[in-house]
Amino acid sequence: MHPKFKELEGKVVVVTGGGGILCSTMAETLAAQGAKVAILDLNLEKAQEVAQQIINSGGEAIGIKTNVLEVESLKSAHKEVNSKLGPCDILVNGAGGNHPKGTTSKTHLFTEDLQAKEELTTFFDLDPEGIQFVFNLNFIGTLLPTQVFSRDMVGREGCSVINISSMNAFSPLTKIPAYSGAKAAVSNFTQWLAVHFSKVGIRVNALAPGFFLTDQNRSLLTTTENKLTDRGNTIIDHTPMGRFGEPADLSGTLLWLCSKGSSFVTGVVVPIDGGFSAFSGV
Ligand code: NAD
Repeated sequence: MHPKFKELEGKVVVVTGGGGILCSTMAETLAAQGAKVAILDLNLEKAQEVAQQIINSGGEAIGIKTNVLEVESLKSAHKEVNSKLGPCDILVNGAGGNHPKGTTSKTHLFTEDLQAKEELTTFFDLDPEGIQFVFNLNFIGTLLPTQVFSRDMVGREGCSVINISSMNAFSPLTKIPAYSGAKAAVSNFTQWLAVHFSKVGIRVNALAPGFFLTDQNRSLLTTTENKLTDRGNTIIDHTPMGRFGEPADLSGTLLWLCSKGSSFVTGVVVPIDGGFSAFSGV
């Protein structure tokens, strides 16, 4: 372990969704700088696995089963973090994702789709419960942990909240109106909270990852023979750097936003997307 961001040493970091693909790497990245990391995840096994990996590499971490949608679960996690690690300095709101019930089958609606014989989910069939699930997980699941953990940060130095937005917050992606709308809400909330917290020393920023191959989107982007689907090809064609992101591509921006180098930066949503959001497609 060769920490380069000395100010992160001993900081207490809470990562929600820390058992997942992107956020486990974020948790490991911060732990490698000497931060004490609490991995909060609905999936206790995954949270503990990530914590153990950090401990095995010489870091300090705990895994806690937490539901970011339940205040009581968050309060109990908060108590455990406070007693085992101390007050929270940095919160990474990573839990999030899409749901098939908030997703249309096709990118565009055609008149004949309304009489189609095949099973199609058009805009008219979207299930309000699926849409609600996605809004809750991404938006409420960011707001509630922030209410519970950022209280510890008020009036202390070097504290910040990192939200996870997405490319679809800038321009909605086809097929996923609920996920796009929910991440737009996360970006908007990042700006709102940055202003609200500006007098108490808490900075609030967000990462907006482009396309990273993970369990949630693998079947949408790749075939069983490990080739790209049409959607996967479209994404690569629209990503000037010509590849998907790797979890470690988020690390530099994460460390910058959590450390002194960004001390006058608050309310920004940083695209980490290989140029996707800069490219008009022409
Ligand atoms: P992932 O599915 O690997 O990780 C999500 C984690 O959140 C899982 O471990 C899951 O158990 C946990 N979780 C789900 N519901 C929860 C709840 N109610 N309470 C607590 N934990 C819960 O996903 P990922 O791809 O690593 O995504 C991490 C974040 O990055 C998400 O917010 C996602 O929307 C966002 N994101 C991902 C991509 C991508 O390309 N993968 C792109 C942009 C943004």
